[in-house]
Amino acid sequence: MDHNHIRPWRNIERRKSRQIMVGNVPVGGGAPISVQTMTNTDSSDARATIKQVLACAEAGADIVRVSVPDTDASRALREVVRESPVPIVADIHFHYKRGIEAAEAGAACLRINPGNIGDAARVREVIKAARDHDCSIRIGVNAGSLERHLLEKYGEPCPDAMIESGLEHIRILQDNDFHNFKISVKASDVFMASAAYMGLAEATDAPIHLGITEAGGMISGTVKSAIGLGNLLWMGIGDTIRVSLSADPVEEVKIGYEILKSLGLRHRGVSIISCPSCARQGFDVIKTVSALEDRLAHIKTPMSLSIIGCVVNGPGEALMTDIGFTGGGAGSGMVYLAGKQSHKLSNADMIEHIVEQVERRAAEIEALKASDQAAQ
Ligand code: SF4
Repeated sequence: MDHNHIRPWRNIERRKSRQIMVGNVPVGGGAPISVQTMTNTDSSDARATIKQVLACAEAGADIVRVSVPDTDASRALREVVRESPVPIVADIHFHYKRGIEAAEAGAACLRINPGNIGDAARVREVIKAARDHDCSIRIGVNAGSLERHLLEKYGEPCPDAMIESGLEHIRILQDNDFHNFKISVKASDVFMASAAYMGLAEATDAPIHLGITEAGGMISGTVKSAIGLGNLLWMGIGDTIRVSLSADPVEEVKIGYEILKSLGLRHRGVSIISCPSCARQGFDVIKTVSALEDRLAHIKTPMSLSIIGCVVNGPGEALMTDIGFTGGGAGSGMVYLAGKQSHKLSNADMIEHIVEQVERRAAEIEALKASDQAAQ
């Protein structure tokens, strides 16, 4: 339940943006912040790409992007779109024909910069294909590939150059009476990306796609993204996000959700609150949490679970979670349900028992939700 009305220090006032549809996913205009990722398979290999799209969707991805560098990839895209449970964004660079093919193949969005695909006639052709096939566009400005005239004007990549680039691309779409677009201004530098996004948020009401590009590997990329995206999201900026890591795209989805969950902007699956453990722990906290993360990965219902090593912090954390376990002495601990002390549990049975409790609670929450919906 959202308690922000009694906890105003948790409120995030989101920037008001226009809403567009990426397939069946609303982006902007107060819609839930969607989580995106991008496949890293050979996109001409439809089977491998579909397999990865399905894994990402299962992990919670709302939208998946696939790069379309050549005609083989364009051909495979049709199949990927057909099999995907989530909207597919086609990533296009420079080749306007790939953009047209991707719109015809059923992509829900083209990631393409209209200023980089050639003369006005080509731009018109791509926009017409997007319009004819109900396909949105994402303008994707990147500090690493700014237009030459902007680099000459500003001397080096900087937030103002990125914003100007974005606005130039926007103008091209608007001049063609195309408004079904969102925009990103990514940089690998957190300061540059943040400043560019803040400026962009002032300069347009288009929905904003957030990302820190080339953020790095699992650990460094996660930290960088959490700081960069977290800071912007906290300011209310951002309608859809992609965490970009040199790692499995499924991990990007998980990290994206964790960032949104930390800010109370989205809720999905079990949020585990656990202590770092120390000599006072009544059971092996680290091993237990790692086992529970695996065993509970299938739960999509939002709920909280506290796994705390001892009574120093256990009962307090359990008060604020749906299910809690606090280590005690002599090989057993205490289970808390809805914040109340419930029953003793031996450490040996703990994983199985907690998984059962979580599954039962998830089923109860889903049943309640269903009956609420039926009543409405
Ligand atoms: S809750 Fe207990 S076991 Fe966990 S870190 Fe704190 S004192 Fe140590």
